[in-house]
Amino acid sequence: MALLEIKGLKKNFGDLKVLKDVNMKIEEGEVLVLIGPSGSGKSTFLRCLNLLEQPTGGEILFKGKNILAPKFNIVDYRKHVGMCFQRFNLFPFMTVLENVMYSPVHILKKDKNEIKEKAMVLLDKEGLANKANVYPDTLSGGQQQRVAIARALAMEPEMMLFDEPTSALDPELVGDVLNVMKDLAKDGMTMAVVTHEMGFAREVASRVMFMDGGKITEENKPDEFFRNPKNPRLQEFLSKVL
Ligand code: ADP
Ligand code: MG
Repeated sequence: MALLEIKGLKKNFGDLKVLKDVNMKIEEGEVLVLIGPSGSGKSTFLRCLNLLEQPTGGEILFKGKNILAPKFNIVDYRKHVGMCFQRFNLFPFMTVLENVMYSPVHILKKDKNEIKEKAMVLLDKEGLANKANVYPDTLSGGQQQRVAIARALAMEPEMMLFDEPTSALDPELVGDVLNVMKDLAKDGMTMAVVTHEMGFAREVASRVMFMDGGKITEENKPDEFFRNPKNPRLQEFLSKVL
């Protein structure tokens, strides 16, 4: 069974039809990369996956259960799906360590000492152990984004959603964040990633999808996707970004 299965997903904002019949399966351990022009619905799609937006129609099955069903436990579901945005949204009045510890302690009610140890392991993995006790505004954008990833991982999610996690960063800071994401993929995390980092897509993705006008119009393994794009809109898009 797929970890996530999306069937006929639709999202309207008033008269604006943003997602029109999106279908896909994400297997456990897969890294799905989603690319597409601005305004094509990529962010809306990710936001529907963790219910920051209420879909207008269709089904989202997590381990076979429809997360849109009236009795589905949304609060519990969100604990299993981590999200990382373009803007990092760290709590400015908390230290790096307090940011990472906050949700496991306050939402999962985990033991503080145990979580502190785990948070330090996560920060260490990202090369930020020496920043544990500083405040976010003293860090570079790339460091803040890595803290945001550590904060999401501290919840031990089964899946991570990334919405253009490097597009607000200065170019020289992008690599460190992508490396953290690559390590995560190697460790077997299931990931859905919206990005314009085509090198990352080629190297890490299990499949790449092209979203255009609220639909997935092409999908393939990365090698074939980039070498032999079929859809004319995708060909045009790739000629601009590659
Ligand atoms: P992408 O991430 O691919 O650039 P988005 O999902 O952000 O695209 O947006 C797709 C379309 O939906 C755009 O036309 C955008 O203006 C519109 N949209 C997104 N969020 C809202 C909202 N909350 N209310 C109204 N329109 C929205
Ligand atoms: Mg977007």
